[in-house]
Amino acid sequence: MHFNHDNRTGPELAAALVNAEDDTDLEALLRDHDIRRPALDERSAAALRQWAGRLRPVFTAPGATERCAVLNALLDEAAGRIHLTTHDGLSPHLHLVCDDEDVVARVRAVTAGGLAILSAWTGGTRLGACERARCARVFVDSSRGGRRRYCTARCGNADAVARHRAAARLR
Ligand SMILES: [Zn+2]
Ligand SMILES: [Zn+2]
Repeated sequence: MHFNHDNRTGPELAAALVNAEDDTDLEALLRDHDIRRPALDERSAAALRQWAGRLRPVFTAPGATERCAVLNALLDEAAGRIHLTTHDGLSPHLHLVCDDEDVVARVRAVTAGGLAILSAWTGGTRLGACERARCARVFVDSSRGGRRRYCTARCGNADAVARHRAAARLR
C-alpha cells in the first residue's frame, strides 16, 4: 500500500480530528496535517468538532456497505466540484472543493474525499478503531500487512497485560 498526499492527508487528518480531546489545539492539528490557511475562530472550531463526530462512524463501521453509506452522506455534504490542482509543487491530484473555500469546507472535503478514496482502494480495511476496551481512538492502518488492531503500541501492550491477568485469574 503506497500512501502519499492524495490518500494520506485526508484519512490521517480525519483520524486526528476524531481523536482530538476537548482541549486539543485544532488549529495546530490542521497545520500539522498540511492544511493551508488553518486559522480558526470559535465558530469554525465548533463546526470541525461537530464534523469529527460525523467522521467517527467511518472508522467504526461494521462492514463495507455501512461504511459506504456513511461516506456517501458525508460526500453529499462536503464535496463541491472535482478539479485538479498542483498546489505546493505537488503532482496533479484531485480536490473536491476550490482552494479559495474557507477552512471548514476544505477540511470537510479533504477528510470525506480522502476516506472515500482510501476505502475504494482498500475496501475500508485500512480504517479501524482501537480494540482496547477503554480506548475510543481510531486509526489509519498504514502498516505493511494491514492487520493493525490498536491505536498505539501502548494500547496493544496494555491490552495484552490485561488479558494475561484475566487468564491468570481463571486458573
Ligand atoms: Zn492537495
Ligand atoms: Zn487505544
